[in-house]
Amino acid sequence: GLVGESGSGKTTLGRIILRLIEPTSGSIFYNGKEISKIKKIDKNLRKKMQIVFQDPYSSLHPRKKIKDIIGSGLKTHHMVKNEEELIGKIESFLNLVGMGKEHLYRYPHELSGGQKQRVGIARALSLNPKFIVCDEAVSALDVSVQAQVINLLSDLKKEFGLTYLFISHNLNVVYQISDRVAVMYLGKIMEIASYKDLYENSMHPYTVALLSSIPQIDAEDQGNKILLSGEVPNPAEPPKGCKFHTRCSKAIEKCHIEAPQLIEVRKDHFVACHLAK
Ligand code: SF4
Repeated sequence: GLVGESGSGKTTLGRIILRLIEPTSGSIFYNGKEISKIKKIDKNLRKKMQIVFQDPYSSLHPRKKIKDIIGSGLKTHHMVKNEEELIGKIESFLNLVGMGKEHLYRYPHELSGGQKQRVGIARALSLNPKFIVCDEAVSALDVSVQAQVINLLSDLKKEFGLTYLFISHNLNVVYQISDRVAVMYLGKIMEIASYKDLYENSMHPYTVALLSSIPQIDAEDQGNKILLSGEVPNPAEPPKGCKFHTRCSKAIEKCHIEAPQLIEVRKDHFVACHLAK
């Protein structure tokens, strides 16, 4: 899971990992192999790393039928021998995401938002990937449909042994699907831990504020909210020192001068804050 406010750089990071955007610095490792130095991602690696986009309305070609949208990757990568096999495979992917063959010859505008996103997932699955970036994959959907798509993604994860990078601004959504969660602010990872540890023992003031902003049913808990003051700074000109210091209620003098490193504060729990021990 990767969580943070709008403009924190989550989508950029997801696309950089897939090399859809070239990194200016840093390294990307896939299965222990550095892929940031490879000139061009080859077809085999591209098949293994897929993406489900945020907006199901604009991520599907409006003039292509569902059959062609899901089938184009299969054809490009020569994964089917003939039309009959192609249709059979597309039908099986539609079934996997809870849709039937009656959708094969429909256009995206004939589907609901949830169905469109299911087609996006089927398209990503069609190439037999190992890693999928789900970029705000449920944000544009109604809450009830969100739950269905999250359940579907969880089932597929188990069935195919998939790894997701699940990007969302919604901590509740990330919590439901993630094993490990990273919190991002102005392009920097502030905290990373197992989902349980992050939610139960969050240490970074930004994570604590984000968690406190989740609406609670209990009226007493509503009063414990930490409201972040000030605007998110311009990412092109981030503050010196700790990038969060302009909004942090715990900031000390050192925070204005020195950027904290991401350090392992306890097993598999990393925090970038001068006060974390
Ligand atoms: Fe706040 Fe300082 Fe920690 Fe940054 S380093 S989160 S400003 S206390």
